Amino acid sequence: MNEAMQGEKPWEWSEARWRGIVGRARGGRSLAPRVWPEGAQCAVALSFDADHETIPLRDNDESPMRISQGQYGARQGVPRIRRLLARHGCPATFFYPAVSALLHSEEVRGVVGEGHEIGIHSWIHENNTSLPPGAERELTFRAADTLEKITGRRPVGIRTASWDFSADTLDVIRELGLLYDSSLMADDDPYEIEDGGQPTGIVELPPEWIRDDAVYFNMLRFSGLRPYTPPSAVEEIFRAEFDGALAEGGVFLLTMHPHIIGHRSRIVLLDRLIEHMKASGKVWFATHEQLATWCKQQAA
Ligand SMILES: [Zn+2]
Repeated sequence: MNEAMQGEKPWEWSEARWRGIVGRARGGRSLAPRVWPEGAQCAVALSFDADHETIPLRDNDESPMRISQGQYGARQGVPRIRRLLARHGCPATFFYPAVSALLHSEEVRGVVGEGHEIGIHSWIHENNTSLPPGAERELTFRAADTLEKITGRRPVGIRTASWDFSADTLDVIRELGLLYDSSLMADDDPYEIEDGGQPTGIVELPPEWIRDDAVYFNMLRFSGLRPYTPPSAVEEIFRAEFDGALAEGGVFLLTMHPHIIGHRSRIVLLDRLIEHMKASGKVWFATHEQLATWCKQQAA
């Protein structure tokens, strides 16, 4: 892009320009399968973004208070989540910023030992769209290497921190040879990412803010951000999203954070939600990797 084009206002853009922007990392063919394993009627993919201390670190905030909120995710959140998943026999995917995985290596290995998947989630929860040129590639590769070193297995999937997807993210994902991404939102169900009209072979497992605990429960002392939604209302929203997925035979993908969902008043909503899903019929609980692998195979 030359300098003159950069200075153009959106209403001055050529058709080629706006078509080019829209064509990046775009939703391609649907990968919603006709059937699910074990005769299930829908798929459930639970994910936990184990950010822990990396949110204040990313913000250059050295306050022990904010860092302690992150540590809560490791001290109370993850243990409660692991007990809950073990009791229900549900596999899940844990996305770790590399710095969080380095701070809590034993936790990561414990999670892997219980059959859960570990996915890439940035280096220190940096925002991809605000990085200098080249940094995103270097940090994402370093994150993948770090997780591999800790777990003994190379991760096959990524969720960008804050779902912040830059114009370069897809190239980094392709270069890493990943199976799937879980940051883009063009559908309810899995799809293949296209780039400039060309299929990439990368499976997108779409998240959504609607199905994210942080949206409803986050709180910042020095801003107007407060958790106004009670856990019962969040449970109602998540249930309605699941019920819709069940009715359509699709995917219910839920994003949670140990330091947010892991509190006493909230973990019980996840417990009841899993009970509801199990009671609703035949549900396939899968890691993101299992889900992406199935959808890609069925579409082949
Ligand atoms: Zn995160």
